[in-house]
Amino acid sequence: MSTPALKIYNTLTRTKEAFRPIDPANVRMYVCGPTVYDYAHIGNARPLIVFDVLFRLLRHLYGAEHVTYVRNITDVDDKINARAAERGISIRELTEETNKVFQEDVKALGCLEPTMQPRATEHIAQMIAIIERLIVSGHAYTADGHVLFDVPSMPSYGRLSRRSLDEMIAGARVDVAPYKRGDMDFVLWKPSKENEPGWESPWGRGRPGWHIECSAMSWAHLGEIFDIHGGGIDLVFPHHENEIAQSCCAFDREVMANYWMHNGFLQVEGEKMSKSLGNFVTIHELLHTEKFGGRKWPGEVLRLAMLRTHYRQPIDWTVKALEEAFSTCVEWFVSSYGAPLGAEVPNEVVVSLEDDLNTHAAFTVMHELARRSGRGDALAASQLRASLDLIGLSLNPAHFEGFLILTRVVTRVGGDESPSVAETLRRLRRDYLTAIGQSEAEVDSLIAARLTARASKNWAESDRIRDELAAMGIAVKDNKDGTTTWEVKR
Ligand code: AMP
Ligand code: ZN
Repeated sequence: MSTPALKIYNTLTRTKEAFRPIDPANVRMYVCGPTVYDYAHIGNARPLIVFDVLFRLLRHLYGAEHVTYVRNITDVDDKINARAAERGISIRELTEETNKVFQEDVKALGCLEPTMQPRATEHIAQMIAIIERLIVSGHAYTADGHVLFDVPSMPSYGRLSRRSLDEMIAGARVDVAPYKRGDMDFVLWKPSKENEPGWESPWGRGRPGWHIECSAMSWAHLGEIFDIHGGGIDLVFPHHENEIAQSCCAFDREVMANYWMHNGFLQVEGEKMSKSLGNFVTIHELLHTEKFGGRKWPGEVLRLAMLRTHYRQPIDWTVKALEEAFSTCVEWFVSSYGAPLGAEVPNEVVVSLEDDLNTHAAFTVMHELARRSGRGDALAASQLRASLDLIGLSLNPAHFEGFLILTRVVTRVGGDESPSVAETLRRLRRDYLTAIGQSEAEVDSLIAARLTARASKNWAESDRIRDELAAMGIAVKDNKDGTTTWEVKR
């Protein structure tokens, strides 16, 4: 196999670099996962979708069995404790319930399951082991039941976010606490009260800080050093900076991961979508309610809407963008419908994605494939299908067939589609009628009988047949150009 030409923008160096895995037989990626206390919002969906595309691309380039993708579940956190208390349920009930909805949401967005989804509460031993190493090597200290990371003990601290210590102190909301030696020092372990979740440790019963969780889980499943670490841009500082500090100091390494990738923010009217601002829309409500734009949105549409913007740019989230993505899904559904599997993904699509996930450029190629498919090019249809699969846009017929038949002319008597489009439409119509329990032969013969009645100006009979079809849920239209078409009514 030739060496893949993947290039990745690395936050660590602020440049686009050729991707060279440590071990091409096991390419390793870690992405910070959700804190499971509440439904995920559509901003949270962005890293899920972006890194799923990267996961799929890496599998395509290196082979599915040669890529390990770890996305953690943070199931110990003070936000979780507070929410469980507020709702009067146990922490376990809250995290289980939230995780279940999260898993359903990401599946609906077309994301593959990561290779592993470790839970923080199952990695307490590794967290304690890392903290112990940090204490022994002089990078952490205990104070007042807490263990803190001693930031000035690491001269390269701030390398990822490129901030000096003074800037960080000035810019960050630093928790002031009497037990801290330095303002930037952060908590690795803290004591738990009787009613708070806690684990026995060398420093008494307590619980971990947030940052140590990711150092422990990435170490457990990917080793001391791995290839790619991802997350949203807001995680660069302090979360990723602190992960690097912990892992590099504990394992005496220069780096924790070689490539750091960060997605841009999803915004609503120029502001970051976030739980604290209260301007968020959950993935769940977009999928399952009609609150946003008056309709339920298929996961494929949300995914496409997200990927139309390059992952490092901000996205302005609008209903209009969703509607546009919907039309594109419908167009690609028709253009690839029934196309045989097995075509290779065209090189231009792969090359676009290899260029720091240029999904926009890949979509330009796919629009061209759709156009060629419409002109009867069967290879283009198959290549479009293969490209859709690579990007994770498996367009579910249940989402698009009905919509298609409602909005597009299905049978044009004397229509002018190209033979391949006419054939696709015929097949769609047949499948759809079967799905709604109607017989194609019966619908065809009624439409033919009505045309005969109209030809002999028997308007009463023509209207009677129109009503009979209407009762079956089929609307007949006589068009200005002399053609007759029908649509399925809802
Ligand atoms: P959180 O639950 O805030 O820890 O976020 C989980 C993931 O979603 C992290 O990778 C965040 O960087 C990312 N994220 C949160 N809000 C947004 C947003 N508005 N746009 C893009 N990514 C976000
Ligand atoms: Zn993390």
